Amino acid sequence: MKERIWIAGPCAAESREQILATARQLVGQAEVANLKMHYFRAGVWKMRSAPGSFTGAGDAALVWMQEVQRNFGVPVCVEVMSPRQVELCAKHDIRVFWVGARTTVNPVEVQQIADAVRHSGFTVMVKNPIVPDLKLWIGNIERFLNADVASVMAIHRGFTDAQENVYRNAPMWQVPIELKVRMPSLPILCDPSHLCGQVRWIPEVAQLAMNYGFDGLMTECHHNPSSALSDAGQQMTPAEWAAMISRLDLRSGIANLELVKQRTILENIDNQLSELLYQRMVTVDEIAGIKRKDHIAVVQPQQWQQVVKRYQKHTEDTLYQDFLEKFLELLHQASIKRQN
Ligand code: PEP
Ligand code: MN
Repeated sequence: MKERIWIAGPCAAESREQILATARQLVGQAEVANLKMHYFRAGVWKMRSAPGSFTGAGDAALVWMQEVQRNFGVPVCVEVMSPRQVELCAKHDIRVFWVGARTTVNPVEVQQIADAVRHSGFTVMVKNPIVPDLKLWIGNIERFLNADVASVMAIHRGFTDAQENVYRNAPMWQVPIELKVRMPSLPILCDPSHLCGQVRWIPEVAQLAMNYGFDGLMTECHHNPSSALSDAGQQMTPAEWAAMISRLDLRSGIANLELVKQRTILENIDNQLSELLYQRMVTVDEIAGIKRKDHIAVVQPQQWQQVVKRYQKHTEDTLYQDFLEKFLELLHQASIKRQN
């Protein structure tokens, strides 16, 4: 089974006591639950949305992170926003950092950070930008791959969405899944804390991430969440964290005969579908020629309604109907485009 990467720690570094207490409890809980905590996280420098909000303990906290590394033998990671912060990390033996969702919207800043870590032994995690722009996310990842760092990983933390959502950020799972398709060897973690914004949703989102084949989780934990100076509602206690990780169904099964059989059936269906769709387009081209010759308008709404009606089967399956609606819209648009 592939090893999953578990990262945990507070949103922000608040005090030496808070950092050491949270790390001690996490290490203790992990040991009891027989888990490996791969990295301890903390935001040392926090750039908050509102000025005047708590911005992390700053440079002073690097020493506390070093202490965690030394006392508990767990590598630590922090968020980095500038080449200066990279340099400070190196000076404090911190070899792992992530680039946050507000920084990754700006390729200029990301490139400056990438230049600062060229050929270094850093491990870099690249969060998705707050906008669901996969090209931008991939571009940022490539900046670090090109910089030849020790390793690069992606972190999905959801996207800012104008609509009201249950979660703090919209998951838009299709975006990280497409990233996985395009970069199959890149490890992708999920940050269910910033995605959910509330502890009560975190376990279900963490399980979903495992179902989708994510490679690990970065979870915010605080030894006393209600006293946290930032993101209090989304920080788990170390005990809650260890219980959640232990309960995850990691879906470690391998393909069996039953699955192979169904995949063969699917392969057949896909072959037929692909041929039929192409034949449909060829027929559309024939129709386009006739319409052109006989001066008949391209768009014939009543005709299209008939087509839609033909697809109206299995109406009890609402998920399928949802898909069908989008598919038919796409089919109609493609048909009109060809005829023009
Ligand atoms: C964080 O992980 O501390 C953080 C600020 O996350 P994000 O950049 O995803 O908002
Ligand atoms: Mn946070």
